[in-house]
Amino acid sequence: MTQFSDLGLAKPLLKALADKGYTQPTPIQEQAIPTVMSGRDLLGIAQTGTGKTAAFALPILHRLAEDRRPAPRRGFRALVLSPTRELATQIADNFKAYGAHLGLTVATIFGGVKYGPQMKALAAGVDVVVATPGRLMDHLGEKSAHLNGVEIFVLDEADQMLDLGFVVPIRKIASQLPKDRQNLFFSATMPGEIGRLAGELLKNPAQVSITPQATTVERIEQSLIFIEAQRKRPLLAELLADRSVERAIVFTRTKRGADRVAKYLTASGIESASIHGDKTQGQRERALAAFKAGETKALVATDIAARGIDVNDVSHVFNYELPNVPEAYVHRIGRTARKGKDGVAISFCADDERPLLKDIQKATRQTIPSFDRRNDKGLAAAAAVADKLAPPERYVDPRRADPRNNVPSELRRKRNRPNKGGGQNAQGQGHGKPGGHNRGRNGGGNGQQAQGQNRSGGGDFRGPKRAAPSERWNPIDS
Ligand code: AMP
Repeated sequence: MTQFSDLGLAKPLLKALADKGYTQPTPIQEQAIPTVMSGRDLLGIAQTGTGKTAAFALPILHRLAEDRRPAPRRGFRALVLSPTRELATQIADNFKAYGAHLGLTVATIFGGVKYGPQMKALAAGVDVVVATPGRLMDHLGEKSAHLNGVEIFVLDEADQMLDLGFVVPIRKIASQLPKDRQNLFFSATMPGEIGRLAGELLKNPAQVSITPQATTVERIEQSLIFIEAQRKRPLLAELLADRSVERAIVFTRTKRGADRVAKYLTASGIESASIHGDKTQGQRERALAAFKAGETKALVATDIAARGIDVNDVSHVFNYELPNVPEAYVHRIGRTARKGKDGVAISFCADDERPLLKDIQKATRQTIPSFDRRNDKGLAAAAAVADKLAPPERYVDPRRADPRNNVPSELRRKRNRPNKGGGQNAQGQGHGKPGGHNRGRNGGGNGQQAQGQNRSGGGDFRGPKRAAPSERWNPIDS
């Protein structure tokens, strides 16, 4: 068995790894670390949970430490692009932990927080910057940052970047990078557009592919419950009350849905919190900290908010609503059964979600064992109470639900408009106008988490082929 000490990493890195109790590299680390240390470009097909952050953080820190030089003012030596603030924070925390004995500097740049402290952090130059694309573009525009000093460029969760409409900003950022640099590119999946982007950015890359999905999925006890949509909340409360549920992530498709479910659970005496793109950074951090500390039993989250969040010991994942794209199902249930543990994933399926279920079962080549809890009188009574506790949202004027208002907050200032017809950006193309019976599900959200159906690049999963006009399926609010 390979040990970290066999990989030629600098001693302070080995010490930091020992501090964390890590002795053996994970498969992606074993393959990627020597490649990255040699200076070669890398294409990594891997998702969160495989140890991919250390797979790039360790050799980057090694390279920076071996060839010490000051970062240029307002510049940085290594740039990591991440799709979400949570993941950016987590990656930076990893760099700080592994680099604890190296004395290198690490900073994060993302939206939703003030510019001032970020400008200050960048002013003297930083060794490693972990950034979301929108806010980084803002800093480049304001000349509070430049990319002239970048020696190593990492693009993490590239497929997620595509879903969030970040491909154009990424190309703009890449065009400002020095030609002579090392590129590391990570993605859980390789839809066509992402393959093209990788082709543009990488030079003769080594390829590492870790697909833990199959094994992860095998270790997860999956089940499916057919249930009326309006009775999902009491059913969820009933299942969460079970003693076997230690810590659960509940996935909803919409931000409003997440709030509504969390409110209901809390009113039912189950400690819970919601986490999604409309929450402030502070709210998100507090919700996550309480969940990690075991103070809240259930974290109700949308796909993007949950992705990349590193929480171990999640005993259960509930798919309160099925995701629009089958691969999201695999990502979601992969939040349990981490680090070799087993987990339970329970999905709710209302009648109108059956086409999504079909897609999921086809993509994962399995039939999920199912139970039928429709026409359950106990749940019907509880559902009536549920509506009193957290009544359905009121009607939202469809004009307020104009998807063009829904650009990610980070891009709001520098919205990119090219490719209007191409559907490349997750800014609402292809989404039917909310119908007249919209009870609010389509409206209001800022669309930071727009996802799924806009994959334009001929990828593996293009989302459901049917139109998405119903009040349930608008991914803009997810
Ligand atoms: P990641 O895929 O980077 O999100 O990592 C998943 C989790 O595995 C994180 O909690 C890491 O701290 C942890 N981890 C990464 N590398 C190792 C390792 N070699 N041994 C044990 N745990 C690790």
